[in-house]
Amino acid sequence: MIKTKKQGLLIVLSGPSGSGKNTVCDMAKEVMPNIWESVSMTSRKPRKGEVDGKDYYFVSEEEFEKNIEDGKMLEHAKFAGNYYGTPRESVQKQLDAGKDVLLVIEIQGALQIKEKIPQALFVFLLPPSMKELKRRLRMRKTETEEKLMERFETAYKEINELPKYNYVIVNDKADEAARKLEAIINAEKCRVDRIEEVFLDTDEERLHEELVDKDLVNEPLDLK
Ligand code: 5GP
Repeated sequence: MIKTKKQGLLIVLSGPSGSGKNTVCDMAKEVMPNIWESVSMTSRKPRKGEVDGKDYYFVSEEEFEKNIEDGKMLEHAKFAGNYYGTPRESVQKQLDAGKDVLLVIEIQGALQIKEKIPQALFVFLLPPSMKELKRRLRMRKTETEEKLMERFETAYKEINELPKYNYVIVNDKADEAARKLEAIINAEKCRVDRIEEVFLDTDEERLHEELVDKDLVNEPLDLK
């Protein structure tokens, strides 16, 4: 009866480093097969266990800058001294193929996308408290104390951008946060402005006319 937009939905999930974006995203993807997560490019050095082409495309700073110059990045930002960005071409390809594309990125990049594509879906993930955020960052043991404090300070500034997003999820328990993300995406896909066409076949048209004739459709609501 309705034809929805063929292009997929662009979903931007961001929030401070340590808010649990990747865990929540992995859990949501498990139950949402139509989601494709973009692989970012970074000039950061790989951490132990990270795989090139899966976790990130790891490149040198020069190579990253060349990609910016060539207009190949949909967005990019410098975060904690390293470049991070989303390659444009693969995202476009997946959207055109009808896939919902998920970008798990920090705030500066998310705001660049908001400027260019305001109709995308913007979700902000918050930690339950700043104390918990610090604890999570420490537990990861991926940063030196100095770098960790830098990320923590950045988190304070980033939270000020929350009003620019459409939805916020507090990540107390990752599975519950993932369920909320799933609900938000499903609701967004049901929005009336994603409908391209409404059509009725002849039987449905006839039924519609009968309902109108019987005044069932337009009957006023009586809430007494
Ligand atoms: P990490 O070094 O911990 O992997 O990532 C640092 C921050 O960069 C995280 O908040 C992560 O979500 C963000 N990030 C990862 N990929 C991208 C990207 O393509 N663009 C932007 N703007 N941020 C990203």
